[in-house]
Amino acid sequence: MPELPEVETIARQLRARGIEGRCIEQVEINWEKTVEPLSGAAFCEALIGSTLNTISRYGKWMMFTLGSGRTIMIHLRMSGSFSMAPGTHDRIILTLSGGTKVYFSDPRKFGRWKLVDDPARILGALGPDALTKAFTLKGFREALSRRKRILKPVLLDQTVVAGMGNIYVDEALWESRIHPERICCSLSDDETELLYKAIRHVLQVGVKNRGTSLGEGRSNYRDVEGDSGGYREKVKAYGRGGRPCHRCGTLLERRVVAQRGTTFCPFCQPENV
Ligand SMILES: [Zn+2]
Repeated sequence: MPELPEVETIARQLRARGIEGRCIEQVEINWEKTVEPLSGAAFCEALIGSTLNTISRYGKWMMFTLGSGRTIMIHLRMSGSFSMAPGTHDRIILTLSGGTKVYFSDPRKFGRWKLVDDPARILGALGPDALTKAFTLKGFREALSRRKRILKPVLLDQTVVAGMGNIYVDEALWESRIHPERICCSLSDDETELLYKAIRHVLQVGVKNRGTSLGEGRSNYRDVEGDSGGYREKVKAYGRGGRPCHRCGTLLERRVVAQRGTTFCPFCQPENV
């Protein structure tokens, strides 16, 4: 499932393809539920003739800002991806001026394109984006100190910090040597700082390596060029249950935490400290 580094990679690649500034000439919708809140026909009508001005990202959301003043808010959910070439699961196809076509593929059909007048209607509910200056150690410390819940679901909670999902949460916890079921407010100042730095670090490395693909299935993450991300070789914890910890050699443990498969090192990340 695409997280911040995968969405950032796709946004950068779409920008590099020079689609910003082009006029939307045609819109084809093959799966009506992908678009909200309008019907497929009304959605097409609202887009056609408008310029796709800029492509940006916040947390796991990608935004297409239109010349009409409206914004398409795109969430890839489980399996959404973009390509410049047609595929078998294309749900939306944009034809831009100059003949460029952009294909939104989504085998699992959970991805959404929401047309909004003001992105703040969605983004206003989110916490700071994990890779911006708005995500501060001070703010993160305050957020954790107020919570008596276990850590992992709080890190997945986009209203606390926006951008992480299951992969990068497990990676950040492994890197900072913190157990996923520690109680948030029990973390020492040093542990919070380690975790804060680990979150930034794993996401930055993820972006640098064009994201993560962890399977070979049809819904697995692919970037705009059709490549699987390069972060996969760098994954230390996620999906490695039963295999040795890169740091200490102990076999990593997999358990379900807050309904999510979670992998950690029982030696490096002790439950009781
Ligand atoms: Zn270990």
